[in-house]
Amino acid sequence: MPSEIAKKLAFEILGNVDPVVTSARLGRLSIAGRKDVDTPNFFAVSSRGVIPHMTPDVVASNFNGAGIHIAIEDFIEKKEPPVLKCPGPSPLHTFTALPRTLFTLLAPRRTPAVMSPNANTNTTVSVFTSDGFRQPSNKQYISMIQKLQPDICIPLADIAYGTKPGVKRITKMPGRTEKWVADHIQDCEHQTIFAPILPIDFSSQWEYVNSLEEQANRIAGLAFYDSSLLPDIPATTAMSSLPRLSLDEPASPHHILRQVSLGMDIFTIPFVGFATDAGISLTFTFPKPSSSTENNLNDSGLSTVPLGIDMWNTSHASSTIPITPSCTCYTCTSHHMAFIQHLLSAKEMLGWALIQIHNQHIISEFFKAVRASIKNGTFEMDSEGFARYYESELPAKSGQGPRMRGYHFKSEASEPKRNEKPWTVGLDAQYSALVPDTAVDLKEKEFAEKTTD
Ligand SMILES: [Zn+2]
Repeated sequence: MPSEIAKKLAFEILGNVDPVVTSARLGRLSIAGRKDVDTPNFFAVSSRGVIPHMTPDVVASNFNGAGIHIAIEDFIEKKEPPVLKCPGPSPLHTFTALPRTLFTLLAPRRTPAVMSPNANTNTTVSVFTSDGFRQPSNKQYISMIQKLQPDICIPLADIAYGTKPGVKRITKMPGRTEKWVADHIQDCEHQTIFAPILPIDFSSQWEYVNSLEEQANRIAGLAFYDSSLLPDIPATTAMSSLPRLSLDEPASPHHILRQVSLGMDIFTIPFVGFATDAGISLTFTFPKPSSSTENNLNDSGLSTVPLGIDMWNTSHASSTIPITPSCTCYTCTSHHMAFIQHLLSAKEMLGWALIQIHNQHIISEFFKAVRASIKNGTFEMDSEGFARYYESELPAKSGQGPRMRGYHFKSEASEPKRNEKPWTVGLDAQYSALVPDTAVDLKEKEFAEKTTD
């Protein structure tokens, strides 16, 4: 008998695809008060509940994903995070001014998480916040979930970020996670819980996964930290009919397609934000353009069609065409490449905002096309064509990005500062360039001495 947990979020597998077999599948997530989400689909990665470079009104009018991924990690540098004081039935929507039609997905850690050198314990995880180290316990995390009432939440998992866990650590991870998930299920009876699947061998966590299977009616979905484990999950109807969320951080659309082919339903995709910060506009379409030939290979047999355009490249400075002429996003229908190139060169933040609007649009169109392709029965063929047509990796970053924050990199001892000094250098140089003669004149006239008397 399904409990209220499973009832709150409904997941329907559409079409004639056998839910027990791991293959690309179509589905629909629905929850009272939110817009239904057709899957495969994605949650935008947020920073403190904000999709970087997008204001709430821009999200409302230009964002077509399922919702946003929010990390508790972003809020716990203060003892009493302001987000916990937000009123209403959905404090996260109130705090972030997120449109009510979009889902909130609350996870313990950012994606990707900021690494912490300290170890987790049997009851706590170690988090490196902007204001030092914190060690929230599972009990504290559960109490925050109870207050924040996200549409979907992911229980705490014992994961070693940044390091490959040793044999001893691997034996601890499933046991700790099992206990934390069990406590979470018990204390959050009315919550929609996506149980974490750990990024270690299935053989090391089969007992934990079996425990999830026994209580499949108390969980609403599975959250994979490693998508390659999907085929190992017990092929029972109870487990297979749960929606699957990928926290596996795909590095390119090719990786997304691979995960979709395994039966993944929902994604978080950090590379969209990374591309935007680097000034790269995504330009891929799925399936590959129909007018294209297969002659896009170089001598090594590798594809030469890039997945994106580096907008820092000065060759765009006189280009009066949109990033992608066929794109229907706000950026492409309102501005040309030369304008965006100019904004980046001037470090004007509107540049990144326009690129982010376009990039989020490209990803939502990508998923729309993936769903159409699965529906048409051409997904496998379309994926092969896409893999042959496009380069395997996104273009490398060439220009500067927005000001770096702690979560953008792993800080190392005695390294030089990542951010340039904001103004002083420019002003000093400007001043000395403009007024050297005047300064000398004043000195000659002993003006300086007089004024100090
Ligand atoms: Zn566009």
